[in-house]
Formats: sequence, C-alpha cells, structure tokens
Amino acid sequence: MSYAIETKKRKFDRILEALTDSASAASAPPSPSHSSINASTTSLSLYAASDSSKRRRITPPSKTATTHTSTPIALSGHYLPSSRAAFLQRLETFRHVTQWHIPSTDPVNAAAWAKRGWTCVDTDTVACGVCKERLYVDLNLDKELLKLSERHGGEGADEEAAAADEEDSFTISSEIYGSIVKKYQDMIVTAHAESCLWRKRGCDSSIQRIEGLLNTTLALSALKTRYDSLSSHSDEIPRIEPLPPTPLVDPQELEQFRLSGQEKPHIDALRLAVCGWQRKCEDVIECHHCFRSLGLWLYRGESPAIEKLDAIDNHLEYCPWRSAEAQDTELQTGHARTTTSGEEILPKKERVAGWVLVYQAITKDNKQKKASNGSRSTATSETVLGATSSESTTPEQREKKMKDLLRRIKEIKKPFNVKALLKRKDKPKA
Ligand SMILES: [Zn+2]
Ligand SMILES: [Zn+2]
Repeated sequence: MSYAIETKKRKFDRILEALTDSASAASAPPSPSHSSINASTTSLSLYAASDSSKRRRITPPSKTATTHTSTPIALSGHYLPSSRAAFLQRLETFRHVTQWHIPSTDPVNAAAWAKRGWTCVDTDTVACGVCKERLYVDLNLDKELLKLSERHGGEGADEEAAAADEEDSFTISSEIYGSIVKKYQDMIVTAHAESCLWRKRGCDSSIQRIEGLLNTTLALSALKTRYDSLSSHSDEIPRIEPLPPTPLVDPQELEQFRLSGQEKPHIDALRLAVCGWQRKCEDVIECHHCFRSLGLWLYRGESPAIEKLDAIDNHLEYCPWRSAEAQDTELQTGHARTTTSGEEILPKKERVAGWVLVYQAITKDNKQKKASNGSRSTATSETVLGATSSESTTPEQREKKMKDLLRRIKEIKKPFNVKALLKRKDKPKA
C-alpha cells in the first residue's frame, strides 16, 4: 500500500470517528445538509437503485404529506421480545419513506432495529420505549466533509499522490461505509441504557415468521381475504410476473386452483394475494409484514412506467413473504430421484419464503379436491406434490409419499424418453 493511501486512510479514520461520535450523541437532530440530501434524492429518477427512492416513488402523492406524525404505539413501551404483535408495531414505525432512509439491504435495516426494541421516531432517528434512549442513524458518506478535510489536512499529499488516491477512493469509501455499518450494528445493542433489558436480549430469531402458513385451512382463508380485497376492483390490477417455478412451485397448480365458492380466479390478483399483498386503499396495495405500499397506476396504461409487477421482488429484502431466512420454516424440498445404480435419493429439508408456503397450501387443496371428486387427473398436475410439511407427517407417511412420488416421476418421464419411444416403434412387440 502506498504512503499516499495510508495517509488518506488515516484521514478517513478521523472522519469516521467524527461521524460516529456525532451519531452516538444521544439526540442529535438531522443536520441541514442532511435534509438537503433528502430533498435532492426525492427527485431521483424513477429507476434509481436506492431502496428508499424506490419506495418513495410508489407512495401515492396524497399520502406523503400526512405520514410525518409518529403516533404513540401501545406495545413499544414494554419489553416484549417474544411478542410478534409488538415487533410488527415497532417495524411499522419505519414504514414512512420520508423518515427512514436506510436501505432494507443493509445489515442495519429497519428489521434489525425493531428486533432489538427500537422504533423510528423522527428522520433516521430511533428510540427505545423502555430506556428512552435516542439515536440518529446516518450512513451517508458526506463527500463535502471529505473534500474539506483534504483541503485542510493535506500533510504528505502532493498532486501525484492525489491522482493515486482517486483510484483507490472507491475502495476506501466502501471500507469506511463498512466500518460505519459495523459501528451501528454494535450500537443496535449498546445504544440502550446499561439497565435496559433490550441490551441483554433481543427478539427471537423467528419473530418475523408469518403464522398459520403450514395449516392449509388457515393459509387459504387468509389468501381468500387478500384475494377478495384485490379482486373487488380487478380492473386496477396490472400484469403480474408469473411466479418462478421451482420443485415446489408447479405453475399448473395456480391455473387449476379455485377459491372456495368461486369461479376461475383473476390470475394476476391471485398471484398478488399468494405473495402476501392486499388492498390498502384505492389503487394502492400493501404488505403487512414489511409495510411496503405499491401504487398500481405505475404498472398500467398504454406505456406503463414498469411493464409487469414482480410480486416477490417488491417486498423489502427482509420481508418473510420474500425471505426464507425471515420466514424460518422448513419444508422437504427437491426432487426425489433414483440414481443409475437404482439408489433412491431423498429430498432434503430447506427453508422457504412465505409465498412458497401458500403455494404448498394451494397444491394440497387441489389434490384434496381431485381426490374428493374421485376423478383421475393427469399425471402432470400431480408431479410436484411431494413436498409436505415435515411437522405434520410421520416417517412412515413420508416414506409412502416418497415412493408415490418416485413412481409418478418415472411415469411422467416415459413420454419424454424419445429414444425409448423410437426403439419401441422399431420393435412393436418388445
Ligand atoms: Zn432501551
Ligand atoms: Zn412484504
């Protein structure tokens, strides 16, 4: 590493210290420069990658002006690390895109703070309802501050070194960003008062889990509620990206699915409902687990701003509808298969996202309906029924299901085995 870079690194370290010192000052108000940054990001292009700008553009204009007031939250003043309701109340305080600018992709995102007792009470400011500590969170690398520091503390930095610096500035900036994030990761715990219980233990790892998704009846009744809210104005529903097929997700199952007492459902509304979306108000849908809202008008019309709505990707990074880690529920997944030597390989267990669990409920419901109709359905519609909740089956049942699945897979493979077909044609009596 060159001398110039080392010098620059030391300077960056000092700036970092200054930044985090001001961050740890209990109730530092947002600086004027910070609000001007916010004002400028508001006008970012429609396709800006930043999470907060993405959220900003989809918030209906009429709503943004009224979302500043932070209403008192009933449960946030108590230490309730196992209460899902209390956690969701805290998480919801971070929903206002004009108040909270930390991207959901960051390790210090809203879910991380809410899991440790914090609520959002002001612009990028969190507070604990138990110990009443406050903290201003600022991940911005203030470029002006860096330039200023270069001008005033230029020891050992000649022009040549400055050119070399430029090359490394990106690397160094991301290093600084990493250290800032690391410091805030620690402060999620240490910014609580010494005596605060949130300092000792945060929420359980499963706190974000959407409940009831392994119970087919519950999962489908919640699905119907969401679907009905969406389909009441089905003309508003834009085109939705088809859900990605996986060993657990056979596109045909959604086509065949009928909600209780209903005709063939509106496929786009159904895709949205499977992925956890429901209507918030006219032309706006929302998620009750990451509190993201989407304006449907952006996806409609002759030349829509966005061609198709992706019902999965539009959840925030940490949403259990999208994140298998947040949902923290295991299923048996993957295709069972037989090796050439005849050895049976069983599927393994895997954590899946919330929407996949709803898809499983649909698949099971289709199967039950077929069974009760007594009609023999085509093999294709049954190929992906192997995955079941590992909680609700005995080893014997699992083994039986496994064998059924293997048999079906062998059956379904037959028509596509062209060589075998040709051979059979050659030797009609074989
Ligand atoms: Zn506290
Ligand atoms: Zn969500």
